[in-house]
Amino acid sequence: TRVLVTGANGYIAMWVVDNLLEQGYTVRGVVRSLEKGKRLQELFSSYGDRLELFVVEDMTKESAFDEAVTDVDAIEHMASPVTLSAVDPDEYIKPALQGTLGILESALKFGNKLKRIVITSSAAAIYSTVTVPTRTFDETEWADEAIKVVRDIGKDAPPLVKYRASKTLAEKAAWEFYNKHKTIIQWDLVVLNPPLVIGPTLQKVRSPKDINVSLGYFYGMMTQDKSDEELKATYNFVDVRDVAAAHVAVLKDGKAAGERIILSNGASTWQDTRNFIYSLRPDLYTSGILPRGNLELDNTVSYKYNPEKGKKILGLKYISEEKMIIDLLEDFQARGWLA
Ligand code: NDP
Repeated sequence: TRVLVTGANGYIAMWVVDNLLEQGYTVRGVVRSLEKGKRLQELFSSYGDRLELFVVEDMTKESAFDEAVTDVDAIEHMASPVTLSAVDPDEYIKPALQGTLGILESALKFGNKLKRIVITSSAAAIYSTVTVPTRTFDETEWADEAIKVVRDIGKDAPPLVKYRASKTLAEKAAWEFYNKHKTIIQWDLVVLNPPLVIGPTLQKVRSPKDINVSLGYFYGMMTQDKSDEELKATYNFVDVRDVAAAHVAVLKDGKAAGERIILSNGASTWQDTRNFIYSLRPDLYTSGILPRGNLELDNTVSYKYNPEKGKKILGLKYISEEKMIIDLLEDFQARGWLA
């Protein structure tokens, strides 16, 4: 079984490729240049020709994926701009939207063996401003609000809102495309929606500033001094290894067809995560390596994502928060980033 993975050199995708190879799949990994695929080749050299790299320099060009989708049984479309530094909304939206529509168009024309397309969307395509205490989001909701804000104020919208708009527009376009062509295609669509993804990285990164955005954000929230406002904020998390496992489980499951599935392992405030790390590794605080934050804060979470659908359909089991944090700290420590 051959699986096409776009953005194969990314933080989450490298774990997806790892899981796929381990479970006997053949992987065609799409990267923007062979240079970007070097780490993949190094890490997975023992799998020989079960990992094949495929260069698509610019996925926003028409027909960019025509050749890539030929002879694959499944597609995991993961390439999308994950950044908080671009100013122009188009830098987020254009590649997200055109990349998604592009791969669907190519699949329609050249997906001769294709059975399933999995798109890595995000909880960012679900979230909207929280106005009630501990609101729980589920798969029926959409981040339309982000689209509206970007339409109204363009480049002045906060980076996270532009990112949310890009993921929402791309996912909506995918469902629209799928529903329009459903009766004439032999493949189906599944969308996965994780919140903040953290956990050990397989990428070759020299310093914390080179890590991907989600892990880098977590690292910053743990290692830097932050205001009470920032520490009180809620985030929802999931271990990158669980996200990867879900990307493989979803290829095996008939019931997932046409479903949008949240992948979430819990919610916390940043201060509460500091408190949790303190309970596991007090040494990191007594030695002054990590800042303790403010112990007086109210750590009630303001929102959660309901993961029950994924547990039911895909039988997902999540790594414990404790293991996730311990493994992550070990990874940071091994890299010399907690000193
Ligand atoms: P990374 O930044 O590590 O990986 C992103 C991948 O997408 C890279 O391979 C990157 O290629 C590629 N990419 C980015 N922009 C473009 C573009 N314009 N054209 C072609 N390829 C591009 O991110 P993650 O691993 O964190 O994210 C992977 C996917 O998961 C994304 O779709 C993201 O939205 C989604 N996601 C991530 C979450 C998280 O917390 N990390 C949460 C929810 C969803 P290159 O290296 O060449 O730039």
